[in-house]
Amino acid sequence: MYHLGYSNSKYLKFLNKMASIFSKIASGEIPSWKIAEDSRFYAFLDINPISKGHTLVIPKKETDYIFDLDSEEFSSLFAFAQKVGLAIKEAIPCKRVGVAVLGMEVPHAHIHLIPLNSESDLDFKKEKLQFSTSEMELISKSISSKIKI
Ligand code: 5GP
Repeated sequence: MYHLGYSNSKYLKFLNKMASIFSKIASGEIPSWKIAEDSRFYAFLDINPISKGHTLVIPKKETDYIFDLDSEEFSSLFAFAQKVGLAIKEAIPCKRVGVAVLGMEVPHAHIHLIPLNSESDLDFKKEKLQFSTSEMELISKSISSKIKI
């Protein structure tokens, strides 16, 4: 058994804690700049955006790895993300909305929707953008007002 610097149970508790962050956001326990929701899915602005309007789309039911979703939930998640992506494109000046799935930080399946003007905009290593609370509020309202769900 390899060693991660944690005892096994401490590591599992750490993972559980991380997994619950997005569930707490979806339930409203942790605040977020909400873009849209229905009974199964929730979309909100990324707190450390790599581009203006960077949005995350999650299933409310906790599953870590996106390819472990059952195929119906997987396709419904992408159908929901499509509606959000179309709204982002209408609200935020950009050439396209890019799609990325990483899950390196938060083990709760999520899709990144990222407004792009060039290839280099899709770079998770670059310095994150900073927006004030009122700017985040404005961005989320401008996108959510374009949602057709
Ligand atoms: P990933 O797991 O896909 O590698 O990255 C997780 C993403 O979630 C990051 O882009 C990070 O900024 C975002 N994130 C992490 N914690 C929070 C949070 O508490 N609120 C919001 N809105 N975004 C978060």
